Amino acid sequence: MTLNARNREARDRQDFQQTGVARVCQGRVPATMANRDELGKTVLTPGELIDTALHPDESTEPATGQGRFVWTETGYDRLTERDVTDIASMLQACSEGETELLFAQADQTRKRFVGDSVHIRGIIEFSNYCMRNCLYCGLRRDNHKLRRYRMTPDEILAASENGIRRGYRTIVLQSGEDLHYSTSDIARIVEGIKGLGDVAVTLSVGERARSEYATMKSAGADRFLLKHETADAELYRRLHPGRSLEMRIECLQNLKSLGFQVGSGFIVGLPGQDISTIARDIALLKLLDVDMAGIGPFIPHPDTPIALYPAGDVAMTLKALVVTRLALPHANLPVTTALATLRPDGRKLALSCGGNVIMPNITPAKYRKLYEIYPDSASLKDPEDGGIGEIALMLETMGRRISQTKGDSFRRKRR
Ligand code: SF4
Repeated sequence: MTLNARNREARDRQDFQQTGVARVCQGRVPATMANRDELGKTVLTPGELIDTALHPDESTEPATGQGRFVWTETGYDRLTERDVTDIASMLQACSEGETELLFAQADQTRKRFVGDSVHIRGIIEFSNYCMRNCLYCGLRRDNHKLRRYRMTPDEILAASENGIRRGYRTIVLQSGEDLHYSTSDIARIVEGIKGLGDVAVTLSVGERARSEYATMKSAGADRFLLKHETADAELYRRLHPGRSLEMRIECLQNLKSLGFQVGSGFIVGLPGQDISTIARDIALLKLLDVDMAGIGPFIPHPDTPIALYPAGDVAMTLKALVVTRLALPHANLPVTTALATLRPDGRKLALSCGGNVIMPNITPAKYRKLYEIYPDSASLKDPEDGGIGEIALMLETMGRRISQTKGDSFRRKRR
């Protein structure tokens, strides 16, 4: 490295330490990123200079140049139009070269900050009852065509035990917003699962009061998933009758303050969304400082009021994932089932551009097809154990492996 480059690197590192600003700097394409033909695009040449995110503690690569992806301190009130504009300009990258560069940056950032291991979380969808009426969701209250089910606590524990025996180190309990299960019911189920082995428990049961979340946390729940769905308050209001983005964010803040590892996320391709909405979605994830972020395309369900709108764009979903990886280098980013539903190679694609988590469905087969947020979910094809063996083989072809840990938040480890 030249003296000037060294000086610039030192200045960039010092800036980061003083301001919390993450810059995109230049680095060389490593040999491991060559020939990434899963994307069907021209590969980058090893040794080629590309932009790459810099973190002062962990970057070991030469870094020079002026940043374009600039963040100030986190904090909801600190979101500026400049932040959103910066993200939107990345999402708008449209030439093949620009897109390849972004994808390469995201893959390199994933490798540097969260490594090659892929965390596998087993999802049990234990109830498809929901008291909400979200316009895009097949589980909505007014969809009377759907046959409803609830798993008993014993069934949930048996499915969890099967999953743990198969090697899952995280069990995710997911349902519609179903008050049939009281907070103490959920707490008892969590305690039961924690008693089965050294596993993490993630809850995805929707909006509840802070005191209820506190009870679930005390029972041993480690993580909570609550997608914000869209950061556009007006669009949120239209798609979620009777609910508001503000209420959603309040729940996320409550969960964070209680010590949960918090996952959020959004849907790409919702009717009424545009690039600046997606940019705000990513900005909100950053400002909420989430531990996990799920990003999936909209898939219309025939029995919903927005059945006739087209599905979200796969390329834009991947680009949103890429930019989220750059914005939140330490976050766990799952490959969403919705993406795998629209593209058979969706898992591989998402893992190639920032993803580091897979969430196979381990719900008993007799219930699985009834959890129909959208039709023809890719998870219907998964074997009862979620296909953990097939996943291991796929990862091997990518030079990746299943993590042997519970996959706790990388962000948390840094705090
Ligand atoms: S998105 Fe969630 S809260 Fe909304 S209807 Fe579907 S399951 Fe219920």
